[in-house]
Amino acid sequence: MSKKIVKIAVDIPIFQLFDYIWDEDELNQAPKRGQIVKVEFGKKIITGIVLQEIGDYSCAIDQEKSLKKVIALAQLIKIDDALLRLCQFASKYYLRPLGEIIFSTIPTDWKKTEKWDALEKQRNRKLKKEQEKTLQKREQQEWILNKEQQIAYEQLIRISSKNTFELVLLKGITGSGKTAVYLKWLKEILDKNDDQCLILVPEINLTPQLEKTIKQVFIDQEVSVLHSNISQIERNVAWWKIQNGFSRVILGTRLSIFAPIPKLKAIVVDEEHDGSYKQQDGLRYNARDLAIWRGVDIKIPILLTSATPSSETWQKVLQKKITLLELNKKAKEGATISQLHLIDINQARKNKSLDMYGITNEIKQVIQKTWEKNKQVLIYINRRGYSPILHCAACQWKSECKKCSAWMVVHKKAIGSKDFSLQCHHCGLISAPPASCPSCGNQDLATVGMGTQKIEEHLSNEFAQMEVIRIDSDSTKNKGSADEVFTQIHEGKPCLIVGTQMITKGHDFQHVETVIVLDVDKSLYSQDFRAIEKMFSQLVQVAGRGGRSGETDQSNIYIQTEFVDHPIFKSLAEHRYDDFITDVVNERKENQLPPYTYQALIIVESVAEKKNLEVLYEIKRYMEKQNLSQTTIYDPTPRMLHKHAGVERNQILIESKDRTELQSILEKALDLIEMLKKKSRSIKIHIDRDPTSF
Ligand code: ADP
Ligand code: ZN
Ligand code: ZN
Repeated sequence: MSKKIVKIAVDIPIFQLFDYIWDEDELNQAPKRGQIVKVEFGKKIITGIVLQEIGDYSCAIDQEKSLKKVIALAQLIKIDDALLRLCQFASKYYLRPLGEIIFSTIPTDWKKTEKWDALEKQRNRKLKKEQEKTLQKREQQEWILNKEQQIAYEQLIRISSKNTFELVLLKGITGSGKTAVYLKWLKEILDKNDDQCLILVPEINLTPQLEKTIKQVFIDQEVSVLHSNISQIERNVAWWKIQNGFSRVILGTRLSIFAPIPKLKAIVVDEEHDGSYKQQDGLRYNARDLAIWRGVDIKIPILLTSATPSSETWQKVLQKKITLLELNKKAKEGATISQLHLIDINQARKNKSLDMYGITNEIKQVIQKTWEKNKQVLIYINRRGYSPILHCAACQWKSECKKCSAWMVVHKKAIGSKDFSLQCHHCGLISAPPASCPSCGNQDLATVGMGTQKIEEHLSNEFAQMEVIRIDSDSTKNKGSADEVFTQIHEGKPCLIVGTQMITKGHDFQHVETVIVLDVDKSLYSQDFRAIEKMFSQLVQVAGRGGRSGETDQSNIYIQTEFVDHPIFKSLAEHRYDDFITDVVNERKENQLPPYTYQALIIVESVAEKKNLEVLYEIKRYMEKQNLSQTTIYDPTPRMLHKHAGVERNQILIESKDRTELQSILEKALDLIEMLKKKSRSIKIHIDRDPTSF
């Protein structure tokens, strides 16, 4: 018997699986779970994945169901069983069709059946090219670990030798050498066998240094780097190498949690607190959580690292579900922990020592002093553009985006004959600023508030002798330009670096002595219950960019604020992150918020809010019919950004003390949701599990 029936998940966002005939004579092999195949679906030829064989084929079945044959089989790629299990879990937990998960995580070229033959040729060409390139011997990077690093390292070795799942947190102050510890650990693991490891990082293009260091540590092993900025060819070949075990170290951003790594022996989630592990649209997953699931499933250790662990992770520490390893000293001889200085804006205003850009004299003095010492100053302001708003003082008109419930940001970028333009950071709309107020005709429109460009302009004037380097997503848009500016900073010439959160993460700056933070106040009293935790972590991170080398004097961080008495600053000054985050976790418990409750959002989008609300109330009523002992379903509310690119967005929040109950409610609601989607194609409905943005 050479014909079988197989169950297949297809590359279409639909929950149903489909039966196809597998003809062994034609395909030259027996069906196997995880094979990628080409099938006819309706009138289209699409990709699918074999999930299981369900039996021999008989004509009787075929007459009943008129099954189609699997047309062809991808030779180069197959999804291994462990990865398939991960996708199946993600499908269930995030309530998305399995086919959608699998096919949105593999390189796009693999989905195009007409490309399969070309892919093989392309791979061979690329491999040949790589071999021809005479391998430049890299310079090996090695550290002599200090005492506490050594202890952490030895504990990690002990943990990995158990060959089982264990969740570990390496908590270390910035610059304590966490990277050195985990790289040495992974190297030890990989030196023994031809195993593989995965290092997840929040963003790679911001930290080219890490990639370089990793390549210098794993001098004899192939390192593959996966992120959104690599070409299709690079991605195809990397996937093939990873899948076949040739790549030993995989360094990647969140999507690489779905990489096919057959001999995976450890996962590191670097900077585990970072918000970018959560995907905010499409398949809304959390790569840190999936890493832990993958660790449990295949019985390997998962190492989280951070200077400022998230409340979710810290809760697990308090519940003793995590092995905690700590580094409390700077790794480099002479490196200093930045000392906090608060600058009271109200006081400065009274003393008339605040300029019209909102910068105090004190700040200017420390910039001057640092400059005189030939060191670098880093200024953090989390707003790109020139100014967040254009405003008419006569009638209070503000530059609102036509398509979003958001302000258009003023950018110092020419448009037509104007030197400035207005940009919406949400929908991307760009327009020329009006010559006069559209509402009252006033000619005198003013920019209100500061963005990186305004600060750059202002400080370039104030400190004409100093070079000002601006780093934000506008200044680093072109490929390689981020590399360029970071290289310039690493060269060490005294300068003023002005940047958004892009400068806070991970950079090993050697010459920064002074860190200045403008504009924290809006996060101190935010509606978002996670804002304070995020802010604290950003402040610790940005403070950690100073004093890293030992070549600078005591490093300092200056924060301008109207709220000098806010408790966050006390914890920050005394470097008591543990106490701070323990308080945060306890408060969440008191207020019954995550991680003590589990949340999900059902989001409905369409051009008509009325329609959104109808749909949401229908879903709510349906869910309320179930037996809800632990769960609250709230009324529909507008999303924080209510209107986006002309689309109105509303949501309901579902909150439960019991994860299983929440799962079951959502699973049941899914049928209704699918039905509603089919009924009205003009609406979109999404489920967001463990949401971090509202
Ligand atoms: P973290 O990740 O904890 O912020 P890094 O691993 O980036 O810290 O280390 C900070 C700096 O200290 C890096 O320049 C690194 O090369 C250096 N470093 C780490 N460990 C040692 C060590 N044992 N001896 C000397 N320098 C070290
Ligand atoms: Zn006006
Ligand atoms: Zn917009």
